[in-house]
Amino acid sequence: MTDQPTSPTPLTSMSLEDAHTSGVYPKRALTIVRGQGAYLWDSEGRRYIDCVGGQGAANLGHAHPAVVAAIQNQAATLISCPEIFYNDTRAALLEKLTTAAGMPRAFLCNSGTEAVEAALKFAKLATGRKHIVAAKRGFHGRTMGALAATWEPKYREPFEPGVPNYTHVPYNDLSALEAEISDQTAALILEVVQGEGGVRPGDGEYLRAAQALCRERGAMFITDEVQTGFGRTGKLFAHQHYGLEPDLMPVAKSMAGGLPMGACLIGSRVGTLEPMTHGSTFGGNPLACAAALAALEVMDTEDLPGRAAALGGWMLERLADLPSRFPEKVREVRGLGLLLGIELRNKVAPVLRGLQERGVLALPAGVTVLRLLPPLVISKDDLELVAQAVEAVLTQSV
Ligand SMILES: *Cc1c(COP(=O)(O)O)cnc(C)c1O
Repeated sequence: MTDQPTSPTPLTSMSLEDAHTSGVYPKRALTIVRGQGAYLWDSEGRRYIDCVGGQGAANLGHAHPAVVAAIQNQAATLISCPEIFYNDTRAALLEKLTTAAGMPRAFLCNSGTEAVEAALKFAKLATGRKHIVAAKRGFHGRTMGALAATWEPKYREPFEPGVPNYTHVPYNDLSALEAEISDQTAALILEVVQGEGGVRPGDGEYLRAAQALCRERGAMFITDEVQTGFGRTGKLFAHQHYGLEPDLMPVAKSMAGGLPMGACLIGSRVGTLEPMTHGSTFGGNPLACAAALAALEVMDTEDLPGRAAALGGWMLERLADLPSRFPEKVREVRGLGLLLGIELRNKVAPVLRGLQERGVLALPAGVTVLRLLPPLVISKDDLELVAQAVEAVLTQSV
C-alpha cells in the first residue's frame, strides 16, 4: 500500500533536523509522516507495521478517532487553565482516572519523568525521610530526581553529583530489599515489568513481599507504571496482575492517547499534601485532560487491556520456540501482555535494521534485547507478519 509522497521530502526533513536538533537522539534514516491504527507511513509512502508504538505513547493506535475528536472539541473550547482554577474537563478526568486506578487522588503533569519526580517528592513529604531505594536495570526518567533512581550508569554519570541518598538493589531479590530498606527509607520505586532495562517481568511474590516490607518499615511503595500502564501488560495497570496496592503510582506515555501527559496517583498512606509544595504550569490543562478522558473511555469500550492479554499471550507462544530454533542467536523470549522482549546473544541493531527493511518498526531495550511495543489495536494477522519478519531476519543474517 503506497501513498503520494508528502513534502518536505525526506532529504529536506532529515538534513533540517540533522542541522538543528539537539543531537541527543540516535536517529534512524526514516521520516515518518502519518499514522493510522498500528500502521505508520514514511515520506516515500511506504507503510510499516508499528511495533515502536510511540515508545509506549500509542497504545490506542495512531489517530484514534475518539481522541482526535476530543482534542478538536477541547481545543476550540479551552486549552489553558492552571490548577488554581477548577475546570469541568479536569474534574471529569480526575474522577475517572482515580476510580480506574483505585487510588483516591492524582497530581497531573506532562511526562513520565515529571510523574516520577512527583512520586519521589510526595514520598519525602509524607515520610519526612530522604533515602530512596530503586532497582538495578530500572528506568525512571531523565530529570535529576528520576535520573538518580534510574540505574544505567551511562545516563547518570555525566551529571554527577546527582541527587544523594539513592541506592540500587538487584531486581527480583527480596533479601537485598530486606537489607536496604530501613527506618530512614522514604520510598522503594520499582517497575512491575522493567521496560527499558530489557523487558524483565517482576515476580509476583517478590512484588507483594516488597510492598509488605515497605508497610512494615514505614516507606512508601512506588510502582512506576509509566510504560506498563494503560493496558500494555494485559491489565489497565500492571500491578493489578498481583493484587498490589501502591502508595504512589506514576503514569504517562499512553495516558492521553499520545498527547504529552503524566500523572502521579496518590494512595491514602500519603496523607495530606500542603498547597505550594509542588506544581506545574501545564499540569491538568484541559486539552490533555480531554484527550486522557477519551483515551480511558476507549480503554473500556474496546477492552484494550483484554486485547493486550489475549494477543500478547498468543504472540509469546508464537515466538516461544525461537531460542531452540536459533540457539546461537536467541537467548530468551519473555514479556507480559503486549510488552514483549526477545533477548539476543548479539547486538540488536542489525536485527532492527532487517525488520525495518521488511516493513516492521521495533525498539531495542538495552544493547541485546529486541522490544515489541505495538499499539494494542494491532491485529493478530499483523502480529503474525511481525513474527515471520523476525524469523526471516534471524534466518538470513546476524
Ligand atoms: C519512559 C519511562 C519514563 C520516563 O517518561 P518520559 O515521558 O520519557 O519522561 C519513566 N519511567 C518508565 C518506567 C518509563 O518507561
